Amino acid sequence: MSNATQTDPASRTTGTATAMVLEGFGRAMAPRTFPRVDPDAGAVVVDVTHAGICGTDIHLQQGRLAIPVPVILGHEAVGRVHALGEGVTTDARGEELRVGDAVSWASNIPCGHCYYCEDQQEPSLCETRKVYGINQSSADWPHLSGGWSEQIYLQPGSTIVRIPSSVTPQQVIALGCAGPTAVHAVNRIAKPDAGNVVVVQGSGPVGLACAMYATLAGAAKVIIVGGPANRLEVARTAGIGDIHIDIFAETDRAARLDRILAETTGGRGADVVIEAAGVPTAVSEGIDIARRGGKYLVVGQYTDHGTTPINPHYITKKQLQVLGSWAFSPHNHLEYVESLPRLAARFDLASMVTEYPLGKAEEAMGDMRDGRSLKSVLVTGGQS
Ligand SMILES: [Zn+2]
Ligand SMILES: [Zn+2]
Repeated sequence: MSNATQTDPASRTTGTATAMVLEGFGRAMAPRTFPRVDPDAGAVVVDVTHAGICGTDIHLQQGRLAIPVPVILGHEAVGRVHALGEGVTTDARGEELRVGDAVSWASNIPCGHCYYCEDQQEPSLCETRKVYGINQSSADWPHLSGGWSEQIYLQPGSTIVRIPSSVTPQQVIALGCAGPTAVHAVNRIAKPDAGNVVVVQGSGPVGLACAMYATLAGAAKVIIVGGPANRLEVARTAGIGDIHIDIFAETDRAARLDRILAETTGGRGADVVIEAAGVPTAVSEGIDIARRGGKYLVVGQYTDHGTTPINPHYITKKQLQVLGSWAFSPHNHLEYVESLPRLAARFDLASMVTEYPLGKAEEAMGDMRDGRSLKSVLVTGGQS
């Protein structure tokens, strides 16, 4: 970290950028300044305008995942191109990229040559991928490697995509990393068929994003099992999901199961169940909800919350396909951005968002943790 002096304010590449830094686990986010830098060849510097807060950020602050500190958090953000490094002329779709363009970018850069990247063609499983806002310490050059910042330095190899002109930055950030996570989970792994009954366990951003993509995939009915009530209300008014079951109101598990099964075709159970609750005990209930020969996709256990009893007999007896989905690849991010006009036309995405100034990161995280906001988004001064 450096205390670069404020030099010529007319220059675009001098002075400092303010960012919110996690300096140690369990500590409050602290505003710190970093020197602004010019992009090297292949890199792009972006003025961040909106940066999302994700449940993972709260876990990172608590030290539940091994990451380097200090770190500027923020793995989901949008902004405007501030400067293009030598050789960068187009975005990931091959469209011309210019200073001032509104862009989003994949949070991760896979290595591109490991077994998972090359042989399996599944870069979400790359073990050495760089992830903005997570495993790039702000102590290391180029320092500005997280989204909760006025500026971010996107390294060569980043997947940068111009935001379609028909969607707003608020609509892009409403789902944040849950958008590409759901693209990967639903479109690539679970692959519901048209006419399916899909149950989504969990009504956070990942659950709602999975519900949206299940609908876009042609599901006949999408049942969201989650809570608390205010989250389900946001889902309902945004047009997400067909049936909403509040686990805080329907606390008896057997009665809840009856209610859910009654909503499925012939009471057989769901064709596809997607776990996006992040609570280990949800898994045994999910197995109960799935029909014989159905699919159960576990995508919500991103953080290790420990073990849970399940009865594996029912996996065999139901001939269940049990699937997992880890994060997403840059290609899924691209697919997410390309799907945004369809998503935004069908669902009221911006209604999911509550905005806070960058300096109020703690308050924004607290409101999300306590369920007061479904999706907290930090808004910068938009300096450029
Ligand atoms: Zn996230
Ligand atoms: Zn790799």
